Amino acid sequence: MSRLMVSISGLRGEIGSTLTPEVIQKYTLAFAKYINGGKIILGRDSRVSGPFVADIVRGCLVAGGCEVIDIGIVPTPTVQLEIEHHKAAGGIAITASHNPVQWNGLKFMASDGRFLPPDAAQQVFSMADRNEKDLKSWEQLGSVIQDDGAIRRHVQKVLQISYLDTEAIRKRRFKVVVDTVNGAGGVIIPQLLKELGCEVIAINQEPTGKFAHTPEPLPENLTELCERVRSEKADLGFAVDPDVDRCAIVDNEGNPIGEEYTLAIAAKLVFSKQPGRMVVNMSTSRASEDIAKYYNCMFVRSKVGEINVAEKMKEIDAIIGGEGNGGVILPEVHLGRDAPVAVALTLQALLEHGGSLKELKASLPQYNMVKKKINIAGLDPDKILTDLQEKYKDNDIDTLDGLKIDFEKSWVHLRKSNTEPIIRVIAEAPTSKEAEELAGRFLKEITQKS
Ligand code: MG
Repeated sequence: MSRLMVSISGLRGEIGSTLTPEVIQKYTLAFAKYINGGKIILGRDSRVSGPFVADIVRGCLVAGGCEVIDIGIVPTPTVQLEIEHHKAAGGIAITASHNPVQWNGLKFMASDGRFLPPDAAQQVFSMADRNEKDLKSWEQLGSVIQDDGAIRRHVQKVLQISYLDTEAIRKRRFKVVVDTVNGAGGVIIPQLLKELGCEVIAINQEPTGKFAHTPEPLPENLTELCERVRSEKADLGFAVDPDVDRCAIVDNEGNPIGEEYTLAIAAKLVFSKQPGRMVVNMSTSRASEDIAKYYNCMFVRSKVGEINVAEKMKEIDAIIGGEGNGGVILPEVHLGRDAPVAVALTLQALLEHGGSLKELKASLPQYNMVKKKINIAGLDPDKILTDLQEKYKDNDIDTLDGLKIDFEKSWVHLRKSNTEPIIRVIAEAPTSKEAEELAGRFLKEITQKS
């Protein structure tokens, strides 16, 4: 049986086993107490379990004295934007992000529209563990109102990005295939593309929550999109995950260019127009780093996790950032990963490049990444990492989040999991062969220590 996954990005579990009505109730009541009343934005992705989870969440928020503004089936970044729009005290997105259909979960957000910072999230989780709640009397109960304008406002906000020349994009009449995997992106992504004058071919568009394929936008899950880009002779294809914070791109020949390149394309566009600072997590491709350095811009790495990237971006006043999994953060819109933002920036970048998407990708620094994991059951992951740190102490190492070792043209990042007895090994090098070899070398080093 799967376990309930509790992390800084929220709560995830399987319906019918770990994400029970009691669990949803416990965490929502703790959050309502933490927020101490006020307006709460509530949105959900399209999962089949969404309506019943939302019923429980709404009920608990009302019982805790919150004024719920229910914005329906929307991307997670839309919930974040609506917190700012309504000047709300916080928000909850009901989603299990890219996890398969049997999962669902809750993501908690603060009044600034970002995820709860790690210490605040920990506080809410501890309160939930202690069953803390603040149930209101009948005259202090909260209320629920519906607001169906959230997606329209999100699209408008994206169209106003200062780096876009929307008129020029419209004139280019891009032909785009988009796969929203029956998730929450089925309305917003085609709508945004149409506003940008694109000829849109939408597949898996109905937000039924019955995902047409494994929903994580990895190359192996995008075969239908790739085929359609080829058969339609489209300029490019976009795939987003069910809660629309990650965006992957398929080139004009129907080949996925790799999620890492979504952020690299956005970074190049932004820095070509304005100098500034960039933050990515420690596992993100060096392609973005090379681009930032090319433009003489400051580049900083944070711990893994959207909130860690967003916190660092706020701290150093970055103008672009994100995660290599297709998560672009543009503070001009808001401090959260946003697939509609990624879509718009990609079209502007392609317009300015002038050639095909394949050529645009070829013009960027070329790297390949491999991700592995190794079972270390019964062993101390911290000791394994400390021993390797000692062994490689003369190299360029970073221990902010696990152990990262930078070599001249490659790097490896080792992280223990907080939920399973494994160590993740991520390696990047100019070719996939070199990346495989580098990862293999470190897997072997870990095995030898085992
Ligand atoms: Mg997601």
